[in-house]
Amino acid sequence: MSVTLIDPSTGVPFREVQLASVEETDAVIARAVAAQRGWAALAPGARADALRSFARVVEDHVEELAQLEVQNSGHPISSARWEAAHVAQVLNFSAGAPERLSGQQIPVAGGMNVTFHEPYGVVGIIVPWNFPMTIASWGFAPALAAGNAVVLKPAELTPLTALRLGELALEAGLPEGLFAVIPGAGAVVGQRFVTHPDVRAVVFTGSTRVGTEVAAGCARMLKPVTLELGGKSANIVFDDADLAKAAASAPGAVFDNAGQDCCARSRILVQRSVYDRFLELLEPAVQAWRVGDPKDPSTEMGPLISATHRDRVSSYLDDARVAFRGSAPGGEGFWFAPTVVLADPGDRIAQEEVFGPVVAVLPFEDEADAVRLANDTAYGLAGSIFTENLGRAVRVSRGVRSGVLSVNSHSSVRYWTPFGGMKASGLGRELGPDAAEHFTETKNVFFADAP
Ligand code: NDP
Repeated sequence: MSVTLIDPSTGVPFREVQLASVEETDAVIARAVAAQRGWAALAPGARADALRSFARVVEDHVEELAQLEVQNSGHPISSARWEAAHVAQVLNFSAGAPERLSGQQIPVAGGMNVTFHEPYGVVGIIVPWNFPMTIASWGFAPALAAGNAVVLKPAELTPLTALRLGELALEAGLPEGLFAVIPGAGAVVGQRFVTHPDVRAVVFTGSTRVGTEVAAGCARMLKPVTLELGGKSANIVFDDADLAKAAASAPGAVFDNAGQDCCARSRILVQRSVYDRFLELLEPAVQAWRVGDPKDPSTEMGPLISATHRDRVSSYLDDARVAFRGSAPGGEGFWFAPTVVLADPGDRIAQEEVFGPVVAVLPFEDEADAVRLANDTAYGLAGSIFTENLGRAVRVSRGVRSGVLSVNSHSSVRYWTPFGGMKASGLGRELGPDAAEHFTETKNVFFADAP
């Protein structure tokens, strides 16, 4: 079995990639089990050095990785360069963890009590197609730092950068079999991570539907699972906000990566008293959003990932009230112009994750109404709050049930701060100061001092 990769900006097929079978997956997992024993036995400083070497090799290949992502995923080259450099940063940050995974000494009578952070063993990481490199690194770098081996399944549509990272790990001197990238179907390789007894923990990023199945399978195996799922994040604009700044930044917050971003601020909630003014300011900002050839460094948005996905995104406009749209190239690529729709809270477009460059704008009355509407979806991943009132910023950021919020900006991801969702957006957290510890289980040992 193989998959044909298609350049999303041209629609032209450019490479075949072989997909692994269950038997091949099992063989890779067996090698990972063996490699993990030696890796975990290394001195913490030696593991840290190996990860720093890996980071250096990735730094040396940023341009190559970025060009691969442009062709395979249609990401604009400026974004792809950032993503490749981010992988090196996540590795460098994780390299600080092995020597800092300290346990505790807990006072007890009759001896000494100490805790240890033990690696799980082999960790299975299932990655989606929207950010193939970065999302992979959020799992593999801290998992390796904590002494685990990693088996990683990229999305069928976008395996190239992950496969190259697997080769770069070997070039950097990581042991054979320790970090293995297995291209394959979700129902085959991904499911095998769930059911294989030697894969002791699973990290899944993707749709809430598949994530729920993965979690159910992991529950049957008593396996810990981290889930990073969908979102329908709110960008809340109060009437006391810097409206020009809020409107100028709103397109980037939802149309980055063509809206194929779990953190996309795909609902803009605007206080009714400034609703019309905000839309007047938003229209030129949307029209100025540069959609085009991903190889051009000035491009802000490329195509959607596939023809099937474009049809899915497009179906959301069938019953939507379109206010205005930006522009997109024609031709054979999977292009879709940025689109602003006006919506009511119960509309499909205001509730479901479109995962494309479509934003729904809804009015609200007051602070309580804004919080109610922000929380009025199944999801709870990210969100932004634009206000000049500090007390309001505190109250609203505490009231919105989302894992990652930002006041007067749209930041979501910094590798040294925690990332993850509430409600149907996920379980567990990635990145941040405790990232490596999340890939360990605590062992408690009591040493009796009686002679
Ligand atoms: P999926 O959830 O189907 O895919 C995500 C990953 O899971 C892929 O690697 C996929 O493999 C794998 N997978 C699929 N089925 C299984 C399974 N039964 N067991 C284990 N792994 C499996 O997402 P889609 O690509 O289908 O995207 C659909 C929608 O999901 C998007 O439109 C968007 O709304 C949401 N999504 C959210 C993401 C996020 O970042 N939170 C990322 C991607 C999608 P394979 O590639 O072989 O299918």
